[in-house]
Amino acid sequence: MFPRMANSAPSFRAPRGTSITCANWQIEAMYRMVQNNLDAEVAEDPARLIVYGGSGQAARNHEALAGILATIRRLRPDETMLVQSGKCVGVFRTHVDAPRALLANGNLVGDWSNWDEFRRLQQLGLVMYGQMTAGSWIYIGSQGIVQGTYETFAAAGRRHFDGELRGRLVVSAGLGGMGGAQPLAATLAGATFLAADVDAERIRKRLDTRYLDHLAGSVSEAIDLAWKKRAARQPESIGVVANATELLDAIVNKGLVPDLLTDQTSAHDMLNGYVPDGMNLDAARALRGSDPAAYVRRARDTAVRHVRAMRRLQDRGAVTFDYGNNLRTEARDAGVADAFTIPGFVPEYIRPQFCEGRGPFRWVALSGEASDIARTDELVLEMFGDDRSLATWIEAARKRIAFQGLPARICWLGYGERHRFGLAVNELVRRGELQAPIVFGRDHLDCGSVASPYRETEAMQDGSDAVADWPLLNAMLNVAAGATWVSVHNGGGVGIGKSLHAGQVTVADGTPDAARRIERVLTVDPGIGIARHADAGYDLARSVARERHVDLGAG
Ligand code: NAD
Repeated sequence: MFPRMANSAPSFRAPRGTSITCANWQIEAMYRMVQNNLDAEVAEDPARLIVYGGSGQAARNHEALAGILATIRRLRPDETMLVQSGKCVGVFRTHVDAPRALLANGNLVGDWSNWDEFRRLQQLGLVMYGQMTAGSWIYIGSQGIVQGTYETFAAAGRRHFDGELRGRLVVSAGLGGMGGAQPLAATLAGATFLAADVDAERIRKRLDTRYLDHLAGSVSEAIDLAWKKRAARQPESIGVVANATELLDAIVNKGLVPDLLTDQTSAHDMLNGYVPDGMNLDAARALRGSDPAAYVRRARDTAVRHVRAMRRLQDRGAVTFDYGNNLRTEARDAGVADAFTIPGFVPEYIRPQFCEGRGPFRWVALSGEASDIARTDELVLEMFGDDRSLATWIEAARKRIAFQGLPARICWLGYGERHRFGLAVNELVRRGELQAPIVFGRDHLDCGSVASPYRETEAMQDGSDAVADWPLLNAMLNVAAGATWVSVHNGGGVGIGKSLHAGQVTVADGTPDAARRIERVLTVDPGIGIARHADAGYDLARSVARERHVDLGAG
C-alpha cells in the first residue's frame, strides 16, 4: 500500500538505514530507488508519478507501482522481475548472478514508433514514457545533469572564449528537472546566466535548492540585471517567469547579443512538455485538456518563433547550440529550413569524452546518510585527484549541491576508472566505512548506450547515427555481466521514435559476489562506448582502445 497524506495525494520516500525489507541488498536497492525517484524532493510531479523530462514516469500508474513494490518485497535472490512499460508482468527463476529486474519502457516497432501511436497506447493504459532515468529508477534530481551541463559550458568556454567564462552571459530557457541544472552549472563554470521558464513553481524550486540566485520581476528587469552582472564579471544566475520567445524577442529587440545561447524547455513533447506563447500557464493547461490538436498547433508555432529568434541571435554572433530537446526538429518540420544551422551539443562538445568511455556515471547512498557520499567524495579525490577538472567538480559539488532524496553523486568517470572506483567503494562497504551499500548507475546518455540521431549520435563520422544495434548490445552485455537491473527505453530526451537507449544499475553491497559483478559491469558498460566510437572511425576511440586494451575483435 502507498503511504497517503492527509489530502490523499500519495507521498513517497525511500526507506533509509541498515535494516532491510527485501530478501537482500540487491533487491532492497530497487525497492529504495523506485521510491526515491518519486520522492517529492526528487520528482517534478510525484502525484502523477512523473519524475522529470516532460512526462517521464517511474511506473505506469499507481496500481502498477503498488504491484512493482509488492513484487520487489517478495522477490527471491535467484529471481528476475520483468517490467514492461512501468508495470510488473512476471517473475522468473534465473540465478543469483543475473539481474534482479529487466525493464523495457515505451519501445514500439519502427513504423509505429511515433507520438500518435504512443499516445493511443498510453490512453489504453498499455505503455509508459520512461525518459532515461525515470523509468529505470536512477534519477538523482537536477544534480544528475549538473556535471554534464558544467562540462558542456566549460568545453564551450575552452573552444570559444579561451577557457574563460567570467564576464560571459549564457541565455537559455527551461528550469525544469534537467534544465534546472543550467544556472548552477553555468555559474560553477564562471559565467553569468539568464533563463526564462513559464512556470513560477519550477523557478521557485531552483531558488529553494540554491541552483538559481535571483528571480527577476519582469523580462526587462531580468535582462538589465543579467547584462549588469555580466559587465561586473559576476557568476550569478537570474530567472524570469516568461515564455522563451518573450525573453529572446526582448533581447533581439534591444539589439543585445548573449555570448552563449541554448534551450532546455521540454520541446521533445509538444503536447505535455512545451508551452505555447501568448497564454499563461493555466490557459495552456486548460487548452491541453480541451483541444490537444489546437495545443500542439500553437506549440509548434511557438517553436518556430523560438528557433527563429535563436537563429537571429546566432547570426549576430551568439555561440548557439541545441541542448538535446528536439526543438530544432520541431521547428524544421514546421518550416524553419535553417534550424539545423544550430549545432547539437554532443558533436560540438561531448563526443571526445564518449571516445574515452566517459559519461554521466553516478552513485547513490542507500543508507540515506550524507556522510557516505562525503566519504566517496574523498575517495574520488584520493584516486583521481590529479585530474584537475574532476577535482574541481567534486570540490564545487560538495559545497554547492543540495541533495535531493537519497544522497548521491554524479561524476563523469571513464573506461578503467569506473570499475576501479566501484571496487574501492565495495571495499569501503565491506569494511563498514560506509553505513550501507551504494548503487552505481548512469544516465542512458552515455558513450555506448544510445542511438539518437538528433542528440548523442548526431553527425557520427561514418553516418551511423540511426543504427540502434548499439543500445541493444549494451543492454545484453550488461545482463551478461550481471548488472542488478537493466533497462531499454524509447524516446528519452528527444521523443518517441527519435532514440533508443539502455541503462544499468549495479549494487555494491560489500560482498565478493558484488565485487565480481562490479568489475565486469563497470568495465564492459563504458567499454562498448569505446567500441562504438572506434567502429564509427574516431581516431581518439581507436587509440584509447589500444592504450587501455579494449579488445575490438578482428572485425
Ligand atoms: P521538464 O519538463 O522537467 O522541464 C521543462 C521546463 O520547460 C518546465 O519547467 C516548463 O515550464 C518549461 N517550458 C516549457 N515550454 C516552455 C516555453 N515555451 N518557454 C519557457 N519555458 C517553457 O524537463 P527537463 O527534465 O528539464 O528537460 C528539458 C528538456 O531537455 C527535455 O526536452 C529533455 O528531454 C531534454 N533533456 C536534455 C538532456 C541533456 O543532456 N541535454 C538531458 C535530459 C533531458
